[in-house]
Amino acid sequence: MRTLPIPADTQADVFAMCLIGTTEPDLQARLTAITQTLANTGATYQQNATVAALNLIPRVLSVGAVTKPELIGLYEAHLSTTNGAARAVYDRIRNAAPNNRCPLCGVGNVAHCDHHLPKSRYPDLSILPINLVPACHFCNYKKREKYPATAGQQTFHPYFDQHLLAENWVRATLNPGPPPVLVFDTAAPPAWPALDQDRVRRHFDACGLAMTFTTNANDELPIVRDRLKLQAGRGGAQAVQQFLDEERDLHSTRPNSWQYATYRALAADAWFVTGGYLTIP
Ligand SMILES: [Zn+2]
Repeated sequence: MRTLPIPADTQADVFAMCLIGTTEPDLQARLTAITQTLANTGATYQQNATVAALNLIPRVLSVGAVTKPELIGLYEAHLSTTNGAARAVYDRIRNAAPNNRCPLCGVGNVAHCDHHLPKSRYPDLSILPINLVPACHFCNYKKREKYPATAGQQTFHPYFDQHLLAENWVRATLNPGPPPVLVFDTAAPPAWPALDQDRVRRHFDACGLAMTFTTNANDELPIVRDRLKLQAGRGGAQAVQQFLDEERDLHSTRPNSWQYATYRALAADAWFVTGGYLTIP
């Protein structure tokens, strides 16, 4: 997971671009009539996101005389379509993740803008910039139409939830096998509020992070084995321990990456350090 700055493009800017791009007079008139309502919805979203209360945003089927398909159509016609009137906004948001790394998993390459609250259930949020987050294909696919029915079901929001990344909650556990396998789950600090513990568990499940992290970590194990053989040749089990401790500490700046969780688990496992790594195929 990674945090991102809030997009500079505003709801009012994007809505104005959509209005300009709308050529049908009747739809343009009905959209113009809901300008203030959509502005208010955007402001409420920002307030609620700031206090982790997006579950209180109502799911709507229409706004004024504008239907759900028409609201979703704004996104499809003007943001996600190449040459759409607000396509530049879509590109700015999608390209905002450093090194194109998906902020929802920290692993995949950004491929889309994900609607944090899905447009199928919140069509009035389909063009709201702060509801659009760059995401990899897998996270986007896994989240699909999931929405927070309760406060605890709110997934990590890269623009508003910096506090959820301050401490480690991704946990790797080494199954000795054979062959040794790392499995991932969540273990938030017990001192955390129950709400935050629920939220990171929900995010982990909603984005399928167990699969993403397990795949990456276990793919790395043969390389870890060979590095540890080199270390053992230089300084025995003590050098192996030191190497694993250093890798763990180097990754601690991203405490919820699969790398940090992996080296934390390996460095703490006496069986692994004293030769268990040799059983990695
Ligand atoms: Zn992702």
